[in-house]
Amino acid sequence: MVARGRLRLGKTMERFRYFDDYRDRAFACGCGWSGGHDELSADEWADVVEGSCPQCGTTLAVASYPTADEVRAAAATGNEEAVEMLEEEGDERLPFDPEFAGHHLERPGQLPDIAGETVRLTWERVQDEGRSYAEIRHHAHVLWRERAWFDDARRRADVTAILREKFGPRLTELGSTGR
Ligand SMILES: [Zn+2]
Repeated sequence: MVARGRLRLGKTMERFRYFDDYRDRAFACGCGWSGGHDELSADEWADVVEGSCPQCGTTLAVASYPTADEVRAAAATGNEEAVEMLEEEGDERLPFDPEFAGHHLERPGQLPDIAGETVRLTWERVQDEGRSYAEIRHHAHVLWRERAWFDDARRRADVTAILREKFGPRLTELGSTGR
C-alpha cells in the first residue's frame, strides 16, 4: 500500500512556484478523483504547501512559499496577493523567505563575544548574486549576516534590541556607512 502510494506520487506530483497558476488548474489522481487545487487537502511545511488527493492521500501538488524576490516580481506584474504582501509593512513577510526562515538572529547567544569597553557596530546592506543581505560588522569583521528584506527598518529595530541585550551599555551605536 505504501509502496504503491510512493510510486504514484512520483508519476503525478507537480511542483509549482507560489505565484504559478495552480489555483486555477484541475488535478486528476490515479485513484479516479479529480478536482481543483482548493479541494486538495493542504499540509503546510516550513517552505512548501503540499496538496494531496482528498480521497487517497496521494501528493498531487507541491507549491513553495515565495521568496522576497518572487513577491516583488509578482507584485510588479499586478498580482493582487503579492501587492497585499508588499503593502503589509515590516518584516512579517520575511519568514516567507526560506533562507531567512532558516537563519536569522533570534537571541544574543548566537553572537560572538567582543572584548573592549565599547562596542561600535555597523549595519550594512550587501548584494550577493542578486540577493540582499544585512551584515552586522565590527570594524572589518562580519559579526552576523542574514537575508534582508527591501524595507528593513523594523527588522533593524528587532536586531538592535538583541544586540543591546548581548552587549548592554557597551554598544555605542548601530551606524551604517550609508547604503
Ligand atoms: Zn487519489
